[in-house]
Amino acid sequence: MPRPISATIHLDALENNLAVVRSKVGNSKIWAVVKANAYGHGLSCVWQYLDQADGFALLDFNEAILLREQGWQGPILLLEGFFKPEDLSIIAEYRLITVVHSHWQLKAIEMANLSKPIDIYLKLNSGMNRLGFPADQYRTVLSSAKCLRQIGQITLMSHFANADNKEIGVTEQLNVINSVSQGLDISQSLANSAASLWYPQTHRDWVRPGIVLYGASPSGKWQDIADIGLKAVMSLQSEIIAIQNLKAGDKIGYGSQYTAPGPMRVGTVACGYADGYPRRAMTGTPIIVDGARTQVLGTVSMDMLSVDLTPCPQAQIGSPVELWGQNLPVDDVAGIPGTIGYELLCALADRVPVSLCR
Ligand SMILES: *Cc1c(COP(=O)(O)O)cnc(C)c1O
Repeated sequence: MPRPISATIHLDALENNLAVVRSKVGNSKIWAVVKANAYGHGLSCVWQYLDQADGFALLDFNEAILLREQGWQGPILLLEGFFKPEDLSIIAEYRLITVVHSHWQLKAIEMANLSKPIDIYLKLNSGMNRLGFPADQYRTVLSSAKCLRQIGQITLMSHFANADNKEIGVTEQLNVINSVSQGLDISQSLANSAASLWYPQTHRDWVRPGIVLYGASPSGKWQDIADIGLKAVMSLQSEIIAIQNLKAGDKIGYGSQYTAPGPMRVGTVACGYADGYPRRAMTGTPIIVDGARTQVLGTVSMDMLSVDLTPCPQAQIGSPVELWGQNLPVDDVAGIPGTIGYELLCALADRVPVSLCR
C-alpha cells in the first residue's frame, strides 16, 4: 500500500473559478496566471481546464514550452521577462510575449536578429520597486521601443503592491499609472487577483488573476472571498495511522511542545513538513478528522503530525484527514504559521501523489 497521503485537484472548481473571474472583469481579457507549476497544482494537468482564458501567464521558459508542446496555440506571457539575450530566440520561436523591465533588455532586442517582431509588455514601476521603468522615464523608453523594428505590439504593464489591503488599496499607484499613460493610445494590464476582484477601475484591457483561480484568497483571509462563489481546487488528505491515549501531563512530539491537560485521545497523521505541510503550524492549526474540525497538537515532524481526537471520539486508525481543501480553506491553515494560502499550495511536495477529480 502507498502511504495514505494524496492531493486531489478538483477540475470543476478550476472551471468555476475562471467563470467567477470572468463575471467580475467585464470585457477585459484574462491572463490565467499559471506560474510555479500552476501554483503547485501541476501545470500539465490543469491548463486544459483553464483554456477558456485568453492567455496563460508564467515565468519559466520550460513551462511556456510545455504549454506549446501540449497544444496551446494562444498567447503566453513571460511575467518576469527574459534573463539573457539568448532567450530571445526561444521567445521568437515559441511566439511568447515578454515583459521588458530594464534598459539592457531593450538593448538586447535591438541587437537581436529576429525572424519577426516580438510583442512586449513594457513594465512601469508605479511604486512597488521590484521591476519596471520609473514613471519619469517611461514615455521616453516607450518612444524608443516603438522605433525598434524587432518590436511589434506594446502593452503598458504595472503591478500593485497593496490591492489585497483595503486600507491602502491601489489609489496612489493608479495615479502614477494614469498620469504616465494620459493621452497615450496603448493597451494596459494592471490587475492581479485582488485588483480583479476589488478594483474595477484597474481592469483595463487584460487582467492577470492567479490565486483566485485556485480558490484561495489574495489577502490570505478566506472570509474576504467567502461569498463570491470561488471553490478550493486542491485538497490535501491523509489518514490517521496511530492513536495514543494520553493522561494528564503526557507530552507530544519533538520538543514535547504540547502537554495533555487531562486524559485525551490523540491521532497520528501521515503528513509532515516533507509533504509541504508547514512546520510552523503548531498547536491550534485547524484540521479535519473524520468530518470534524479539530486541531494540530505539538510540533509538526517531517512525516507526521498529531491531532486532538476529542471532537471526533469515533475516529479510528484509517479515519480520513483533510489537511486543507473544500471543507477547510487553505488560508485558515496558513494563518496560524503566519503565511498565506499561496505558499502552502506552491510548496506541495513532489512526493505527494496527485489525482484529478471531475
Ligand atoms: C503572480 C503574478 C500575478 C498573479 O498574482 P495573484 O495575486 O496570484 O493574482 C499577476 N501579475 C504578476 C506580475 C505576477 O507576478
